[in-house]
Order: sequence, then C-alpha cells, then structure tokens
Amino acid sequence: MSRHESNAAAAWQRVAQARRVIIKIGSQLLTAGQDHLQRDWIGRRCREVCLALAAGRQAVIVTSGAIAAGTARLHLGRKPLLLREKQAAAAAGQGVLMQCYEEAFIAHDRSVAQILLTREDVAHRRRYLNARDTLETLLTLGLVPIVNENDTVVVEEICFGENDTLAALVAGLIDADLLILLSDIDGLYDHDPHQHDQAQLIPLVSHITADIERLAGGSGSQVGSGGMVTKLQAARMAARSGCMTVIANGFCEAVIPRILAGQPTGTLFLSEDDAISSRKRWIAHGLRSGGDVELDDGAAAALLGGRSLLAKGIRRVQGHFDRGAAVRCLSPQGEPLARGLVNYSADELRRIAGHHSSEFEAILGFRGDDEVIHRDNLVVLTT
Ligand code: GLU
Repeated sequence: MSRHESNAAAAWQRVAQARRVIIKIGSQLLTAGQDHLQRDWIGRRCREVCLALAAGRQAVIVTSGAIAAGTARLHLGRKPLLLREKQAAAAAGQGVLMQCYEEAFIAHDRSVAQILLTREDVAHRRRYLNARDTLETLLTLGLVPIVNENDTVVVEEICFGENDTLAALVAGLIDADLLILLSDIDGLYDHDPHQHDQAQLIPLVSHITADIERLAGGSGSQVGSGGMVTKLQAARMAARSGCMTVIANGFCEAVIPRILAGQPTGTLFLSEDDAISSRKRWIAHGLRSGGDVELDDGAAAALLGGRSLLAKGIRRVQGHFDRGAAVRCLSPQGEPLARGLVNYSADELRRIAGHHSSEFEAILGFRGDDEVIHRDNLVVLTT
C-alpha cells in the first residue's frame, strides 16, 4: 500500500469513528428537479440517519427546501422570485418541510426539533451560546435537530444565502466530528466533469490550498453545477473547527451508511491539527466583518507569527465600525490574513494608524489599549 493509500485508509477510519455528525441536504436533492419535495428520498435518508443513531452516533440535519416547497404551495411558478416572495415561500414551505422530516423520523420512533437560525443569532455571543446549549440539550435528549436558515426574517445583506456555510457553522458550534455535504455531484473533480470526460474525482484533500480553490472557482469551474465554492468554504471552516467534511452524491443509495462505515465515498477533507478554540471560531466565522484594516509587511508578518496588531503597522482603514467590532486584516496585497475584535473605532484607527501607542493620548485625548487587536482576539485565516 502506498503512503497516500495508507493515509486515506487512516482518514476513512477516523470518519467511521465520528460520533457527532452534521448532514447538510440541499434543495436539488429534496426536489430532484420537480416542484415538490421527494418524500421517498427523504424517508430513505432519514432511515439511514436512524441507523446511525441506533449505533450510538448523534446527528443534526441542516436542510434546505423551504423555499422550494413553499414556491410549489403558493403556485409561484419557476420565474425568479422577489425577495418578499422568497420569504413568503419560505414561511409557507418550512412547515411542509418539517412535516416531511417529522413523518420520516416518527416512523422509526424518533422525534425531531426545528431550529431556525440567522447570521445575527450567531453574531451575538450570548445568542451563539444559547443556540449551542439548545442543540446540545436536544442531542442529549435523543432528538434530531433539523436546522435551516430563518429565511422569513433575514434581509439579503445579512443572510447566509446557502446552507453550506450554515452547516459548517453548526458543526463548529457543537464540535462535530464530521460534516457530510450531500449534493447532486459526486465530489470535487480536477476538472469540470460536465465539460471534461476525463475529469477525475479527488478522493482526499488534506489541506484546502489555493490550487484546490482554483478547481472550484477558476475558469471552467463547477460553480453553477453544485456550488463547489461555498462547499469548499464550508469544508475549510469545518477543518478549522477540527471537523472533517465529506462531499458526496445524495442520489447514491445508502450514501450515509457507506460514509459512516468508512467506505471511501466522494471527497474527504481532513480537519486541521491546529484547530482553533470555540471562541476564536466565533470571531472567525460567527461575526460579520465591520470593515478592513490594511497592514504593512511588518505587521502582516507579526500577525502570521501569532502576535497582536499594533497601530504602527496599519496603512489604511476601510468602513465604519465601533470599538469591539470584528474587522478583517488585509495583507499589503489585499488578501485577507486574519479577523479580530478591534479596541478602537474606525475613526479613531484612522487617526492613530502608523503611530506608536505612546502617541495615542496626544492624538485621541485618551490612552486606550496598546494593541489595536490583542492576539487573544485575533484569528489568522491563512496558514
Ligand atoms: N434556506 C433555503 C431554503 O430552505 C435554502 C438555502 C440553500 O439552498 O442552501 O429554501
């Protein structure tokens, strides 16, 4: 067996041992191109989840399909919907969706519980912790939490928009071991399989490098055929939380038991060994960024070396934010390097940028913290 094969075998063994699993199900699977939910398909996957529960695992389902189900119920047709129509469809469809899951699980004596989240729920530390406690309690009670975005109340600027990100956030929220992204494609390919007959499935990704990202987002990409970009982002977020991800085709029979038995299926993304703590995960993924600070080379190197951000290394500040907001730290080339909670507002930062902390009092009229972002409140995004 080659080294690569034995790495893959060891990785799939870890998948087989996963105890807490998040399963994300996309609309294309739930409707299979029709305008209504495919109850049989849902029933089969829920039965598979029940087998996993009976074997001692815990499962959370992150499901789309509310808008699709509501669109059919409200006879909105296939034209692109206005935001308020989508929200009305989600309101009408969420109940239908839950009813499907309810029926599918009750057939195996399992109860479900609905959790609807918005980005704002995870941006507030207390609400984030509350969501976590509720999920933990439901899992302890043996229920299957069914999560979706609360589409009815979110506005476009702050919505997740797709459930891949939401699923990765939930994985981080409750320290899941495995995230399964079920989609209508087999996994990540080295070329767009719709355009290249010779395209090869990539079975194992140890690190999501820039080259891997290019496979999903570059020219001839798979963007339109399965949202590979958001799936890779989700896999990266999960990896940073110490969670593995499998992208697999939900139309394959027994897909969930096969994955959980450790049989190589789709593309497996390993988790990172230096996964970040729950609080840092919240800073990195839970909060919306209020603006950007552009750094000079010295500050960028200091940040990557695990040090705090000082005003001296800031070249430019973009956006309007208050003290305590989350901001992105950009390299001199404009790449996002880190995210952190700032000790100064955007206006204050513009005034102290490039200065030493001993000058803060003369400039601002008060001394404040020496660091603009303390390293305890800073998460490096690139490795
Ligand atoms: N939350 C949306 C729904 O339930 C779907 C988002 C997605 O497609 O990932 O219809």
